[in-house]
Amino acid sequence: MGTIVTIEVVGTAPGGEGARDAAIGRALEWFRRVESTCNRFDPDSELRRLSARVGQAVPASPLLFEAVRFALAVAEETDGAFDPTVGAALESRGFNRDYRTLQPAGPFVESAAAKTATFRDVRVDEARKTLTLLKPLVLDLGAVAKGLAIDLAAQELQSFRNFAIDAGGDLYLGGNNARGEPWSIGIRHPRQPGEMIETVDVSDGAVCTSGDYERPAARAEDGHHIIDLRTGGAAVDAASVTVLAPSAMVADGLATAAFVLGPKAGIELLERHGADGIIITPALERFSTQSMTDHE
Ligand code: AMP
Ligand code: MG
Repeated sequence: MGTIVTIEVVGTAPGGEGARDAAIGRALEWFRRVESTCNRFDPDSELRRLSARVGQAVPASPLLFEAVRFALAVAEETDGAFDPTVGAALESRGFNRDYRTLQPAGPFVESAAAKTATFRDVRVDEARKTLTLLKPLVLDLGAVAKGLAIDLAAQELQSFRNFAIDAGGDLYLGGNNARGEPWSIGIRHPRQPGEMIETVDVSDGAVCTSGDYERPAARAEDGHHIIDLRTGGAAVDAASVTVLAPSAMVADGLATAAFVLGPKAGIELLERHGADGIIITPALERFSTQSMTDHE
């Protein structure tokens, strides 16, 4: 996922170091599994194999099914401002390099249809657990896949109570830190590299941040990696969005979605989901859910 993952288990683990290290190994393995399922650049990924079968109801693994089902629900709710069929738009803006090999890849769907496809062209059959692409399109699960991997990794570590999983600034925090206090997580200042803008306390929950500084486009005029599908350009109403939720997949997806929607509709989205969050605008104005108003 183009990210370094760090896992910390606090204190003496039940079962000793061997059990702890085995659990950490299983937790890290989920990142590889989610990657090999959802990677848009890997012709062997389940996502790409699904993309090759337009018009067919394709049985999906629980991993892919869950990621696509959730991303489509967020797309529905944001009326397509967030949309996992964003892949063709990403490709046309130069996001066509596999971040592991840095080799250019794609376009995967030559057809012009991919550019006009939306989330409404993907069918989910809850009972049969199948996915159907009604048109050739380029699915991209970059907004939710890391969160899903973090949730699965966290399940492997639940028996240790106190632990932290950090996947490049998207985190799940179990229990307390080594001082017995809730984990204190710094939110990066979106315009001052190396500085924090504020900190949040978290215990048994996820914190995910979407920032416009994370992945610049190849051409400077194209901005960054989060696209407002209503304009076709980079989303400009937020500089960073941080979301706290019990699930990392939810926090990850809602952070990206709120980023596209901007401060007003973004905070409303978070409030509807009962998630906590902070939106910092490019002018460094701060908006937050009710729960996060009494900071500092
Ligand atoms: P994140 O870093 O979690 O905010 O996710 C950003 C990633 O989400 C990008 O790298 C793209 O893979 C994907 N993405 C960009 N724009 C959108 C959008 N409008 N809807 C859904 N996914 C998007
Ligand atoms: Mg996200």
